[in-house]
Amino acid sequence: TDITALLHSRIRDVADYPEPGVMFKDITPLLADPVAFTALTDAFAAIADRTGATKVVGLEARGFILGAPVAVRAGLGFIPVRKAGKLPGATLGQAYDLEYGSAEIEVHAEDLSADDRVLIVDDVLATGGTAEASIQLIHRAGAQVAGVAVLMELGFLDGRPRLEAALRGAPLEAL
Ligand code: 5GP
Repeated sequence: TDITALLHSRIRDVADYPEPGVMFKDITPLLADPVAFTALTDAFAAIADRTGATKVVGLEARGFILGAPVAVRAGLGFIPVRKAGKLPGATLGQAYDLEYGSAEIEVHAEDLSADDRVLIVDDVLATGGTAEASIQLIHRAGAQVAGVAVLMELGFLDGRPRLEAALRGAPLEAL
């Protein structure tokens, strides 16, 4: 569709970043184009509406840039999910495995309640490890996941099948 072509045209492929053999998808040209950034925000906000989301969660760091305007556009609150050690209040944490070692993400426990249906927003779904940990974190906070919305899904890394069980039927939408 038109929006897919527009968004795709504003993604830059950067070879061998952050390490040799990786083709990095750089979203900064999209952020710098107000027409594309607005179209992306509107498309994410439509997903928030359609899925009955009550909150938008953005994943550090590019999920903050993309998710915050979605929350404003959809009339919802924004909740940051951060790398461990960055949030000042009482947190819930979720560890997950990386190719080498592990990582941990956190959310302010008081930001989510049992009434909430959360739309998780990020730029790229790669292996799905970050999104899976985020879904688990939201469930452990007692809230529901309305869906996961990403700009790009790198299908060859098999993130979608990895998320299937955790999603409990909620949609994974890749623009
Ligand atoms: P995953 O946990 O799915 O393997 O990796 C997804 C996370 O890594 C996302 O938070 C995303 O921002 C980042 N990421 C992985 N690959 C890329 C990429 O090629 N481009 C961008 N912009 N982010 C990426």
